[in-house]
Amino acid sequence: MRLSRRHPRYASLRVRLRLADAARRGLVVPEGLVAHGRGEAFDYLLGERTTPSARRAARAAALWLLRARRPVLSVNGNVAALAADEVAALQRAVPGLGVEVNLFHRTPARARAIARELRRAGVRDVLGVRPSARIPGLPSDRAQVDARGIAVADLCLIPLEDGDRAEALRRLGKAVISIDLNPLSRTSRAADLPIVDELTRALGAIRRAARRLGPRVRDGRRPPFDAPRALAEALGAIDARLTRAARGPPRRSAR
Ligand code: ATP
Repeated sequence: MRLSRRHPRYASLRVRLRLADAARRGLVVPEGLVAHGRGEAFDYLLGERTTPSARRAARAAALWLLRARRPVLSVNGNVAALAADEVAALQRAVPGLGVEVNLFHRTPARARAIARELRRAGVRDVLGVRPSARIPGLPSDRAQVDARGIAVADLCLIPLEDGDRAEALRRLGKAVISIDLNPLSRTSRAADLPIVDELTRALGAIRRAARRLGPRVRDGRRPPFDAPRALAEALGAIDARLTRAARGPPRRSAR
């Protein structure tokens, strides 16, 4: 299908085409397409831009990642389809960042296809293709992780994750950074550092902040982050947009 660049929803339609193509290639499951729809709806409400609050969260996330002993980025089908290049770029900006295939709907073929997509984009040493450890307290298929990755991570960056797994990672004492457009999701609410922003915008903002900070910030403790405040600010941004919209379009001045 050909899209006109002049279409007012061009960017969003292009992303949909990309996801539909990834679904045909077996990277994304139908449930992933539905999850994308939920994300789109929240992005619409947020104005399809990174809010100042999300930018601050991305900067804090960069510092947490640089200071972590073993940071791991969890990748599902939607993340591989939409942001494989950004994942590779972030891995280059954060020394020691593990990248692990972590699927809600896992089949060995799908895990391999996602790993191939990541390698093609330049990701090194993709973890999680053959899971070798388990997260306690989750149903068996969703508990699988890599013994060299999430199992031993002190910090997990989890874009588009499901709430059960986010909560299970917290129970294991891992620091959790989420990327999720829904400030009301269980994942956003469980995270120590929720970034309420669109996936590719958030990964880009973290990468740029990590590059600016550089390796000199590596030593030191993780500074505290006010997660409830970040979520309240995201809801406030939605509230402000809806309030403006409810007032109707700006009046034309009468002549
Ligand atoms: P939870 O279990 O955390 O309450 P959920 O059931 O609402 O989450 P899932 O389907 O498990 O949602 O995960 C998808 C989440 O990812 C949704 O909250 C959705 O808003 C978000 N999401 C989808 N696409 C994007 C995207 N491109 N960028 C950021 N967030 C996204």
